[in-house]
Amino acid sequence: MSPNIRSFIRDLAADLLYATGITQPSNRIKDHPFSIVTFHRVLPAELLKSYPINGIAVTPDEFAWFVKIFKKHFVCGTLSENFARWQAGEITERPLLSITFDDGQLDNFLYAQPILKAAKIPATFFAVTNGVEHNDTLWYDRLAYAIVKLFEQEPKNLEHYLNELNLTATGTAHEIAISIVEQAKAVNADQRLNWVKQFEQAVGGLARPDWDGMMNWQQLAELAKNGHEIGSHSISHPILPLCNDTELQDEIVLSRKILQENLNTPIKSFCYPNGDGDERTVSVIKEAGYSQAVTTKWGQNKHGISPFLLKRFDIQSQTSRCRKGDLSVARLAWRLSPFFPKRM
Ligand SMILES: [Zn+2]
Repeated sequence: MSPNIRSFIRDLAADLLYATGITQPSNRIKDHPFSIVTFHRVLPAELLKSYPINGIAVTPDEFAWFVKIFKKHFVCGTLSENFARWQAGEITERPLLSITFDDGQLDNFLYAQPILKAAKIPATFFAVTNGVEHNDTLWYDRLAYAIVKLFEQEPKNLEHYLNELNLTATGTAHEIAISIVEQAKAVNADQRLNWVKQFEQAVGGLARPDWDGMMNWQQLAELAKNGHEIGSHSISHPILPLCNDTELQDEIVLSRKILQENLNTPIKSFCYPNGDGDERTVSVIKEAGYSQAVTTKWGQNKHGISPFLLKRFDIQSQTSRCRKGDLSVARLAWRLSPFFPKRM
């Protein structure tokens, strides 16, 4: 089927499901679902051009559109607050939804916060404590930035390094960066860091653009003061199931302690880096005193789900657009409904 026809059919299905009310959130309130949406970065269009992993970023205008739709169709609140209301069986006039941000990027503070403030919607921000304390760029961004810089300097050099490390990837600089980041998720922490260092060495150090950075303690404290929730997203954003027991304790237990001490507020929510957890991870999270944890597993939450394995909807602007390119309520509502086929 040609992409045009597929796109046409998707629009038709989305519009039909919305017009008949099937995917309208208010019509599903009897099922008492709890929805959690995920954002990573909110970047103005001119900065977005120099961000390699652009699938996890939306522009401020796009974010404002999402917030407007969420506010109209859902009762929005922090993860802790809304999860507690949902678990207590509270029936609200519209279904409950929580907006979450992973990673604690500075752009969240600069570009998302004013939009949330104007809409009077509190959200949950998951911080990586090394990022907060040292302004450390997360490993996947370091890797992607270095690869793109190397490609821009001399594509042949990048090819040489990829061969040296036994890696294969083709396409544009951004596509190669995304592919290598995906491959790096499957190897242990030492090897991953080695890749990051090799590529950074090749371009003469950290390749992060000047505009990029992480939120600091003052900014997180300001978010908390304004009613937002701060949650833990570990110390170093590792792949938790690949950590040994000591590392796991630090990443989950110590990160909570560091956040609580610096922000002087209870930290109730945890977010699995890269969405990866296992039984051992879950039990450490429970013991650490968190009330809930969120994964990257797609879908809405129904009663009976473990509070430590909550599902979320990853929000992307391109998948919420109709074939003409406009952001579409029908498309978004379909994606946030249980009727969205996983393979689309
Ligand atoms: Zn993350």
